[in-house]
Amino acid sequence: MYLHGTSKVNDKNHLEIGGVDTVELANKYGTPLYVYDVALIRERARSFRDTFKRLNIDAQVAYASKAFSTVAMIQLVEEEGLSLDVVSGGELFTALQAGFPPERIHFHGNNKSYEELDMAIKNKIGCIVVDNYFEISLLEQVCMENNETIPVLLRVTPGIEAHTHDYILTGQEDSKFGFGLENGQADKAVEQVLSSNYLTLLGIHSHIGSQIFETTGFLMAAGKMFAKLKEWKENFGFIPAVLNLGGGFGIRYTEEDTPIAVDKYVEAIIGEVRKHADKLSIDIPEIWIEPGRSIVGDAGTTIYSIGSRKEVPNIRQYLAIDGGMTDNIRPALYQAKYEAVLANRVLDPVEETVSVAGKCCESGDMLIWDLPLPKANSNDMLAVFCTGAYGYSMANNYNRIPRPAVVFVENGEEQLVVQRESYEDLVRLDIPLKTKVID
Ligand SMILES: *Cc1c(COP(=O)(O)O)cnc(C)c1O
Repeated sequence: MYLHGTSKVNDKNHLEIGGVDTVELANKYGTPLYVYDVALIRERARSFRDTFKRLNIDAQVAYASKAFSTVAMIQLVEEEGLSLDVVSGGELFTALQAGFPPERIHFHGNNKSYEELDMAIKNKIGCIVVDNYFEISLLEQVCMENNETIPVLLRVTPGIEAHTHDYILTGQEDSKFGFGLENGQADKAVEQVLSSNYLTLLGIHSHIGSQIFETTGFLMAAGKMFAKLKEWKENFGFIPAVLNLGGGFGIRYTEEDTPIAVDKYVEAIIGEVRKHADKLSIDIPEIWIEPGRSIVGDAGTTIYSIGSRKEVPNIRQYLAIDGGMTDNIRPALYQAKYEAVLANRVLDPVEETVSVAGKCCESGDMLIWDLPLPKANSNDMLAVFCTGAYGYSMANNYNRIPRPAVVFVENGEEQLVVQRESYEDLVRLDIPLKTKVID
């Protein structure tokens, strides 16, 4: 059993996180329940920032808020001095509601609307990561109407795709995101932005994938980007103030995952950027990175109540929990794997292998296949580890299942930061037929 962060087993044989008994939390707030280890989030955020500081490199570490965006989380990110990535008006709104400094917000996305860009400009956010030609003109229009200018990064596709352990160099650069580096699109975009009266070109951005366990892909991307920057220096006299290498740093979900330490990624990236900058005789640009999963992923644990059991004789024991693809769609979407224990009997001996089923009307709603557990029944609770990223943020109301509550724990204290949805919440936006009256 692998325990993350401050997680431990207390003298009642219960899982404890941040000094708080998760069984008590579940009894108090109901299940499913997302529990976040705040100290671990802080530790992850600091290890990124501290490495840049130690190596004396100007940097912004922007938390990719799509991994888990709520007002309390954004406030925590602010406390830790990170910057923030948003990819929609809703994420931007959440950040502004949380009081996050707009100048440290960066706006991503391949189809930002007029309204979203207008909102970003009116709120004077720090930077827009421009994705395509349509966006260049739309953004110029919005800036003109608001009589504002805006710093931008150009998102480029360096032709490298990371598949966790190996990297594919795609000649085609076949992606919905960004300007192709190899096919001339990025060159044209740079010319357009450099000649714009409204956009200021800070530099370029790439994001090569997610759940990456090696530094190779980041170094390859940096190399490709610098090859272009050399041309742009010669052709346009352009020298980047910022180089953004995106996110995607991998975490340990199960024993199959072998992440490297945060400082190792950062050190490798800095070394490579320094080498290329020296060769180009330019100052090392400010380095921006955008971790999402690696800030919050292993800090989140979901507590479920166990319900029904179904035995398929000689084949399998299905054990069902009171959530599933509504609070964690990753197994159904990506065959993602998780580890879990009984929250109320953590150290009891393993007696059987079960497959953990969700409660949704989909055969694919399986949370964990072949999980070794003590013999569990409906008095027990299951704790699934590493659900902090893309869990709550992808939660949905399929089968009209209300979304769970979220609790932060730290130093023996708990704080409810998202309420559980109620059935009333589920019908809040529904409008009855005109001919019927409901009272
Ligand atoms: C999703 C995303 C990230 C964060 O990815 P993680 O795998 O959660 O670190 C960062 N940058 C961009 C542009 C993204 O799309």
